[in-house]
Parts: sequence; C-alpha cells; structure tokens
Amino acid sequence: CDEPTTALDATTQAEILNLVEKLVEDRGLSLLFITHDLGVVGRMCTETLVLQSGVIVESGATADVLHNPQHSYTQELIAASQLGSPTTHPAAATEIAVRLDNVSKIYGTNTAAHQVSLEIPRSSRWGLVGGSGSGKSTLLNMIAGLTQPTSGNVTVSGSLQMVFQDPQGSLDPRMTVRSIIAEGLPEKHDVTAKVDKVLAAVGLLPEHATRYPHEFSGGQRQRISIARAIVGNPDILLADEAVSALDVSVRLQILDLLNSLVEQLDLTLLFISHDLAVVRQLCTHVAVMHEGEIVEQGPIEQIWETPQHSYTQALLSVT
Ligand code: ADP
Ligand code: MG
Repeated sequence: CDEPTTALDATTQAEILNLVEKLVEDRGLSLLFITHDLGVVGRMCTETLVLQSGVIVESGATADVLHNPQHSYTQELIAASQLGSPTTHPAAATEIAVRLDNVSKIYGTNTAAHQVSLEIPRSSRWGLVGGSGSGKSTLLNMIAGLTQPTSGNVTVSGSLQMVFQDPQGSLDPRMTVRSIIAEGLPEKHDVTAKVDKVLAAVGLLPEHATRYPHEFSGGQRQRISIARAIVGNPDILLADEAVSALDVSVRLQILDLLNSLVEQLDLTLLFISHDLAVVRQLCTHVAVMHEGEIVEQGPIEQIWETPQHSYTQALLSVT
C-alpha cells in the first residue's frame, strides 16, 4: 500500500485501515505499508523502516522505532508529527472579509452545500474541516468565484488568492518559477525585483527563479504556490488542503511559513483541511462541515475541548 490514506479524513482513514487489517488477517497476507503518518505505522505495522533520501536510516520493531528512535531523522519526524496549539493572535477586526448567506450548491440530485452561513472577519484565521466529500472545496470555490452558488449570497471584500493541495498539478510544468509567480502580479513592472523579494519571503533563493517546477521537492513546490498567491498582496488567502500531500516535517515547515506570512501581511485566512489538529496549529476559529452543512463553528479551543456535534466528536476521537 503506497500512502493509501494520505488524502483521507480521519474517519474515512479509520475505515480503510480496518479494511486492510481485516484482509491481511483473513487471507494471511504480508503487508508493506508506505506512509508519512507515524500514527498509522504504529497501528498497522509490527516492523518499521525509516527511509531518508533513499537510504534506510533506521529499522526495527515499530514500538522501538517510535518510542526509542535512534537516528536524528526519526527523532525529527516524531517531533514534527506532534502538532500543538497556535500562538495567540491579535484580535480580528470587526469588518467582514467573507460573508456567506444561506449558500447552497446543488449538482444534479447531489447537494454539495446546503444553506451555509458564515462570517469571516478581516485578519482572522478560520479553518474549515470535514470528511472527504463534505463540501469543503465546493464552498471555497464559491468564495473564490470559481463556482456559482445555486442559491444564496457570497460577499467578498478585498482581493483573494488561493493555494491548492497538489503543488505538482497546480504549477505549469512548462513555465519557469519566475513566470509562474509573475502570473500573480496584477501589474507587470519590476517583475524580477518583486519575484526575488517573494522568493526570499517563502524561503527560496533568487536562482530558483529560472528553474522549472519538476526541479523542486514537494515542499519547495508548495512554497512556489504560496509565493504566487502572495506576490500581488492579496487581502484574503484561501488554502485547500495545502499541506495534506506533504510529509510531517515538511508540513510543519509550511505551517510555520503560513503562520508568519499571515501575521506579517495581515491576511485573512480560510484554511481547509480534513485534519483538525492541523487546523488547530494555524487557526483561531473553525467551522465543521458534514454532508454539505456547517454543523458547528466557533473558537478552535472551544470546539477542540467541548465539541457539541456528534460528527465533530467522531472526528476528534480518531485524531
Ligand atoms: P470536499 O472538498 O469536502 O472533499 P467537495 O466539495 O469536493 O468535498 O464535494 C462535495 C460533493 O459535491 C461531493 O459529493 C462531490 O462528489 C460533489 N461535487 C463536487 N464537485 C462537483 C462537480 N463539479 N460536479 C458534480 N458533483 C460535484
Ligand atoms: Mg476538497
């Protein structure tokens, strides 16, 4: 199995892991399971190999590797997988950056979003969590103006940019990094200076500007996507599963980067993830989506500690 649950929310992941476990047991199969998620390794595997840059740097019984890691890279992975709660953030403004009034989206007979209402104040950080197919991307695409609602109103005050899950698929392979980032600029003067400045802001080098996307790692590619999104100084940043495809240590680096950019640039953030622990690292507020509806919303610590809706409780119990 090669990362079979990486893109799945926690409850769906648990179902798939149960299925694999059952098949392995019933049929007496041997299992080789690739993942960047140490929790999954702990649950599924008796023996673990840790691979870094093509070299097995550590191997042994899973319990030993996870609880008594010898190699610095394994130690780093374990440290990076333990997400905490965010630093405190300044109080958000009272002006509303994004407002949804009873927004619905219906595809044929399928209701992807049902009467969603949400207010996101300027300079605040909202997370949107929910299982696969719960309507998160549909909602974000309506906010971005990429999809029209079937009914209801979407009001956005300010300019808006987006970062996507798959940095590979969202960067044109035939364009240099400079032209990719320059696409995010509304005016095309001083392009080189502006691109160099934003490359530095996302932790890349000036010489990276002339390279092509395939010459970078996944984490670097996500930095390029973020550079493209912020180069034009947007007011609002939308991120759709922006760290879901990354391994835990790179994920932490990108979360740290987003954290400092949101603060420095005074961005309003709407961050989608199927993982509530990731949202908690970055956001102050969260809305929980389930089957097209927002079933719960509020300050993240409140929802983390005292979830009211049964779906949120289920989501937290498998985290
Ligand atoms: P999420 O991002 O939470 O995984 P999506 O917003 O992508 O969920 O999808 C919500 C529902 O809407 C799913 O049932 C999906 O199949 C459906 N859906 C999304 N986009 C389309 C589309 N363009 N046409 C038809 N159905 C769609
Ligand atoms: Mg989605």
